[in-house]
Amino acid sequence: MPFAGEGATSTSYLRIAGGIAAAAAAAVAMRARRPVVGGNWKCNPDSMSQLDGLIKNIQACDTSKCDVYVCPSPIHVAYCSDKFSNGADVTPQNCNFTGCGAYTGEMSVEQMKDLGMNQVLIGHSERRGEFGIFPMDDNTTLATKLKYILDAGMKCVFCIGEPKEIREKGLDAVLAEMDVQLKQIYSLLDADKVVIAYEPVWAIGTGLTASPEDAQATHKGIRELISKNASAAVADAIRIQYGGSANAANAADLSAQPDIDGFLVGGASLKPEFKDIVAAISAAK
Ligand code: PEP
Repeated sequence: MPFAGEGATSTSYLRIAGGIAAAAAAAVAMRARRPVVGGNWKCNPDSMSQLDGLIKNIQACDTSKCDVYVCPSPIHVAYCSDKFSNGADVTPQNCNFTGCGAYTGEMSVEQMKDLGMNQVLIGHSERRGEFGIFPMDDNTTLATKLKYILDAGMKCVFCIGEPKEIREKGLDAVLAEMDVQLKQIYSLLDADKVVIAYEPVWAIGTGLTASPEDAQATHKGIRELISKNASAAVADAIRIQYGGSANAANAADLSAQPDIDGFLVGGASLKPEFKDIVAAISAAK
C-alpha cells in the first residue's frame, strides 16, 4: 500500500484517481445517446383551425433531456416552421432527391432550409407502398434522397420496418429484411445526422405494439448490422427510434430497453399525451 499514511501523497493519489473517474464518467456520458421523440401528423389535421391545438401539444414537451421533432403535413409545414420555442424541430415527411426546378408536387431540402428547417423524414412505410396504391419510394430512391439530404447539410430521420408476413417468420427473417432496407445507406450513416426509425409495419396505426422484448431484440439486431456494415462507433452512437402504436401507456416499458432511444409516434402525437411519451423516455435514460 505505497500511499497509506502519507498525507500529501495520499491526497495527490486521491486527486488523480478522482480525475480518472471523472474522465471515465465523461467518456460514458459522451457515448450516451440522447433520446429523440418525433410526432408524425401524417395527413392531419383536416382544418387549419386545429393546427394551433396540435402545436400546443408539442410545445408542452420538456425538451431538456430529449430531442423532439414534429412532421406536419406538407401543406402545413410552412405555417408550423416558426411556431416552436422549445427546440422542437419541424421535420417534413418527405423530400425530393434533386433540388428546385420542374418537379411538380415535390418539395426540396433547399426550400426547407430557407424556412429554417434542418431535418427531414424519409422512408415511412406509408410512402414505401403501404397505402396499397403503389410505392412512392424504394430502397434505391431512399438512398439517393439520403445522400442529397446529407450533401445539403440537413439531418434525416430514416424509417425502416418489416411487414407482418416477414415478422411471422421470426427475428432472423426480420433482420434479413432490415439488412435489405439498410444495405444502400450503410456507407452514409453518420450518428450526428441520421436517426433510424424502426417501425414494424404491422404495428403502425393498428393498436398492436411490438413487445418490449421483441422491439429490443430487433433494435439490437439492427445495431449489430450497422456495426458490421458501417462501424462499431456509428452503431454505438446512432439513435434508433421505435414506432408502431407507441403511446403514453406503453412508452415507459419500451423506454426501459437499452437499444430503444426514442419513438416515432403517429396517432398519439395528435393528443396531449405526446408530452408524456417524451417524459417517459427522458426519465428512463
Ligand atoms: C407512424 O406512422 O409513424 C406511427 C408510428 O403511427 P402510430 O403511432 O399511429 O402507429
